[in-house]
Amino acid sequence: MDIPDEVLDGVADLVARSRCTVALTGAGISTASGIPDFRGPQGLWRTVDSDKFDIAYFRRSPDEVWDLFRLLFTPLLAAVPNPAHYALARLEEAGKLCAVVTQNVDGLHQRAGSRRVVELHGSLKDAVCTKCGARLPLADVVKGRGAPRCPLCGGVLKPDVVFFGEPLPRGALEEALELAETSDVFLAVGTSLTVYPANTLPLRAKRQGAKLVIINAEETALDHLADYVVRGRAEVVLPKLAERVLNTLS
Ligand SMILES: [Zn+2]
Repeated sequence: MDIPDEVLDGVADLVARSRCTVALTGAGISTASGIPDFRGPQGLWRTVDSDKFDIAYFRRSPDEVWDLFRLLFTPLLAAVPNPAHYALARLEEAGKLCAVVTQNVDGLHQRAGSRRVVELHGSLKDAVCTKCGARLPLADVVKGRGAPRCPLCGGVLKPDVVFFGEPLPRGALEEALELAETSDVFLAVGTSLTVYPANTLPLRAKRQGAKLVIINAEETALDHLADYVVRGRAEVVLPKLAERVLNTLS
């Protein structure tokens, strides 16, 4: 699928001239790293009962959920960033991206070199104690069977990702809303914009006068509000965009 040059040039021009561009990223930015889009046609929730990742279910059956979690998520720990993640890191380094707000838990933005990353749904980096709040590297507790226990208090540990029915980390949500409101260019990348609060962030940005750019392989719920819609895969579009932006700066 070819992306018209004038569209890429237009978006690059916006980003190059922006005071604060913020990128919101979803599953579509990580599929090229081999991470399945949970809700997509090949998504995890087509084969696995998502109710098992409801927080109430976890509280009742932590051993079962941990075993399932290991099976599904351990392979993701080996994933590496793709050109889309690197493109955003380059833009930040060049002073043309304020922050990445992500719905992903894979940590690939940080591994690509992005510094300011707001994780709306937690991350696969840590496990937290459901009793005392202690935090441990997930890699240290992911082996074995059943629910691992807190070395400090014996409480059940939980992967530090947001389960269904759980509130989002409040600090992250507040930071994301603030970023959306201060941005003057808002890029929504690889997200269908159907899930709260991802779908409210572009609206907030737009209401404060930001330009909205949607980069996604499929249609999204907010295409009609966008100043630019780039219909393409993140790992194809973002490197082209970053190159154009960096060229205008040099
Ligand atoms: Zn504890």
